[in-house]
Amino acid sequence: MSKPLRVFATCDIGESIKLLRDRGYEVEVYPAPEAPPKKLIVEKIQSGIDGLITTLRDQVDAELFEAGKGTLRVVAQYAVGFDNINRADANRYQIPFTNTADVLTEATAEFAFFIMGDLARRLWSAEHLTRENKWGFWHPYLPFLGDEVTGKTIAIIGTGRIGLAMIQKCAGFDMNILSYDPAYQNHDYIKAIQETNDLRHERGICRERTWIKYVNLEDALANADYVSVHVPLLRAGESTTPTFHLFNEETFRKMKRTAFLVNTSRGPVVDEAALAKALRERWIAGAALDVYEREPLPPDSPLRDPAIEDRCRLYPHFASAAKITRLSTDPDRGMAGRCVQGLIDVLEKNYGGDMAKMPYVVNKEAFAH
Ligand code: NAD
Repeated sequence: MSKPLRVFATCDIGESIKLLRDRGYEVEVYPAPEAPPKKLIVEKIQSGIDGLITTLRDQVDAELFEAGKGTLRVVAQYAVGFDNINRADANRYQIPFTNTADVLTEATAEFAFFIMGDLARRLWSAEHLTRENKWGFWHPYLPFLGDEVTGKTIAIIGTGRIGLAMIQKCAGFDMNILSYDPAYQNHDYIKAIQETNDLRHERGICRERTWIKYVNLEDALANADYVSVHVPLLRAGESTTPTFHLFNEETFRKMKRTAFLVNTSRGPVVDEAALAKALRERWIAGAALDVYEREPLPPDSPLRDPAIEDRCRLYPHFASAAKITRLSTDPDRGMAGRCVQGLIDVLEKNYGGDMAKMPYVVNKEAFAH
């Protein structure tokens, strides 16, 4: 009998672990809710595991691949983003890594939309007013008003999977849309949204005829009431269009003073010191953030400054945190199911063992013939 396949998961991903065990895998799950220390992951790899399940909290690089030389066959990342994985190192060691794209697209886009609404309509301040018994009267404009989303203009930065899903949600709210993506433009999708907009207008479903178009970054920033970011974290050298600190003092200065920023992509895409300054000095009207340069958000982060708390919404990297999205064992619905399927594909040599044909393998270039 052949030896069972061995897997170490750096965190519990629910029922999908059972799915692997039912197939005869030996699976060890790190039991604590926090990420395991890197030293422990190295030890597990050295013990000869075949597969490693990781999250964005784990630094996956040459040290790990070296420890797994000759034994480790796959890293299955429980996320769509993989900026914690050194792709060049994975390729050098010829280790495939997988991700969980698509299944979290809608959850992430709707979350971006919801926190944009929360920020714009000042829901956090309004609930505080009620809970803290400061709701003394109904008044036309006191103690404050919010800004509408319907009919406004949004800039979508990055028109990949999540950016396009966000476009679809914003179109439903009759928003005008400025799209920006230097690397990938889906003109068919934009055309279809425009046609739908036109039909809705013709049929009297929305009063104004709304529009959507691709523009350059300057035009997107200068003309948007809302700016929503949907790019991967790409550092200098990783792309011809890096996104590290794409939002900085210079870019904030280009936005309208009345505009709001929404970031559900990755923290380091935004220079947080610059953002805190922009909010304090009111270069922009507000920001809603799900991701940070350091996570969890440090207690002394300038973003926690009480002077900006009415216009700075802070969430704990929560955009994909919905039940089916996170835990479904179905690879077409849940991150857990897709993560495990990516691992199985490699370890069980699906697709004739051709890594370049496996849908969830990211670094296909390392295996191209
Ligand atoms: P994707 O690869 O489909 O789309 C990303 C798009 O960004 C691509 O079209 C790419 O061309 C574009 N892009 C690259 N560089 C750019 C630049 N300099 N300026 C503008 N656009 C640029 O990825 P996706 O599935 O849409 O996910 C996007 C990112 O969202 C992920 O990489 C991940 O980091 C983040 N994410 C966060 C959460 C969360 O919980 N907050 C959940 C899911 C995804």
